[in-house]
Amino acid sequence: MNTEKKVITRMAPSPTGKFHIGGVRTALFNYLFAKHHNGTFIIRSEDTDKERSKPEYEENMLDTLEWLGMKHDAFYRQSERTEIYQEHIKKLIDSSNAYEAEASKDNPDMPVIRFKNPNKIVKFTDLILGDIEFDTTELGDFVIARNIETPIYHLTVVVDDGLMEISHILRGQEHINNTPRQILILEALGFERPEYAHIPLIMSPRGGKLSKRDPEVIPAYEYKDQGILPEALVNFLAFIGWNPGDEREIMSMDELIADFDISKVQKSGGAFNIDKMHWINKQYLNEFSDTEFAEYIAPLFTELKSTPIYDESVMQKIIPIIRERTNYLIDVQDMITDGELDYYFAQPEIDTEKIIWKKDVKEGTIRHLEEAHELISNFNGEFTADLVKESLWIYAEEVGKGNLLWPLRYALSGRDKSPDPFTLLATLGKKTSLERITFALSELNK
Ligand code: GLU
Repeated sequence: MNTEKKVITRMAPSPTGKFHIGGVRTALFNYLFAKHHNGTFIIRSEDTDKERSKPEYEENMLDTLEWLGMKHDAFYRQSERTEIYQEHIKKLIDSSNAYEAEASKDNPDMPVIRFKNPNKIVKFTDLILGDIEFDTTELGDFVIARNIETPIYHLTVVVDDGLMEISHILRGQEHINNTPRQILILEALGFERPEYAHIPLIMSPRGGKLSKRDPEVIPAYEYKDQGILPEALVNFLAFIGWNPGDEREIMSMDELIADFDISKVQKSGGAFNIDKMHWINKQYLNEFSDTEFAEYIAPLFTELKSTPIYDESVMQKIIPIIRERTNYLIDVQDMITDGELDYYFAQPEIDTEKIIWKKDVKEGTIRHLEEAHELISNFNGEFTADLVKESLWIYAEEVGKGNLLWPLRYALSGRDKSPDPFTLLATLGKKTSLERITFALSELNK
């Protein structure tokens, strides 16, 4: 690898849709590679397609990269560089490397500008794929512009890469067939040839190339609303098709920059595994303090907070319970939607069938709840899960654990699934717990 030359990379997206995960990953590899070599990272908006390019898509791309901490050193917009392309088309025509021609047999009224193909073998060594040889004869005299004002992709890319002195072109493998054409044009224009690295595609978990139709794929910036942390998304994407060659799975941007090695990028596609993304997110959430975690989930609770049942001290107590079960915000959203947190704030309804343990009967259930009420009333220590458990455990073992623990848990939460009764007792506190047991008993005695 030529490392004497200053490293300059570019991310060159066409803003024709919201920025997706594939683009983010390509940008990330360009960013990591540039920063690893103390180089420059350029963003170039390839917005020459006037019909499909939209400023809001460009903005979405920039917002996404900013959110993820990939700061660019320079920004260009191709639509503002028309004159530069014109100049270079003229140069190619003047040097007989291009000529005006009839478009095609079907449409001879629309002339185009064609590149005069020298018909030779183009060879290059891709930093990921190795030696590549391509006979360009089969390409014929390909089109580089519709007219002098309207260049097409191959021409603009080569002119920009040349003038911006891009040293390394890192882009998706779908571009590999463009490279021979672009090498021919750059040679005709006398630009220095950059190094190429064609990055493996991201594969769908269902096979084939990952696409916008895969259900787990959303515009990258929207993962932010789902509570995916930027560090986690960066970490996740860096590991698709690359790894540091050791056991590490959690790496910060700085660590990635320090250790990123383009020669370790694999040749074949890397799978997109959304569960892995959520797992990585949880590893970053684990680093949060309880206060930080409370802030993280706070937006989801604004509605609840404005209701009379809301109690901040209860909220404080359930943070660790929520936290344990949270990979990302959608998990908390689901807990809220499913009503799994309601009983912390309000007396749940009691279904007098469900409260009876499957091996017990109504009379037994009443007896055990009365005993629990008695034991808890008489309990005088600090009301922690462990200590309350101690006070109930002998009785529970005596009558069979399920016979006591099931109705007790159900009386407190009104749900088949909830944390264990001791956690619930400690969280709800002595007074509320006793009220709930009394309420369950009154329902059973009706
Ligand atoms: N603008 C092209 C695209 O969006 C990428 C150009 C390149 O990386 O060479 O696919």
